Amino acid sequence: MLRSGDLPNFDGRPTVRLHQGMPEKGSVAALSDSAFRLLIEAICYCGREESNGRVPSVILNRLATKRTAIKELVDRGHMESVDADTWFLTDYLRWNRSDAEIQAFRESKAQSGVLGAHNRWHVPRRQRVKDCPHCYPVKGVESA
Ligand SMILES: [Zn+2]
Repeated sequence: MLRSGDLPNFDGRPTVRLHQGMPEKGSVAALSDSAFRLLIEAICYCGREESNGRVPSVILNRLATKRTAIKELVDRGHMESVDADTWFLTDYLRWNRSDAEIQAFRESKAQSGVLGAHNRWHVPRRQRVKDCPHCYPVKGVESA
């Protein structure tokens, strides 16, 4: 039974998405523990860096606790080589946002914030603020 203190805290920190059946998926279930961990670490790296599923070789080598884990991910189709210095997680963009989608979301939130500030502060005070895109300039009146 959940108590109030046990409720998950959705605090707005960035997350990555995994399908809830992912660990049981055939090609994932067959992975060794070290390869599974590497896959999760690489997915989290891509989320943090907004890299569209690309992982530099130097990072992948640092994340891999066993050299065989990289080969396992390649052999099972979870990862492929882009070039000598870069790897690509094949399913990353299937479940996670691209950098362009993240940027569009951020811009949308920023625009909402500007509109919210306009509605909260400018409208009730009947202010026209020069830098606010929602305020309409009044001819002959200086903005605040
Ligand atoms: Zn305004």
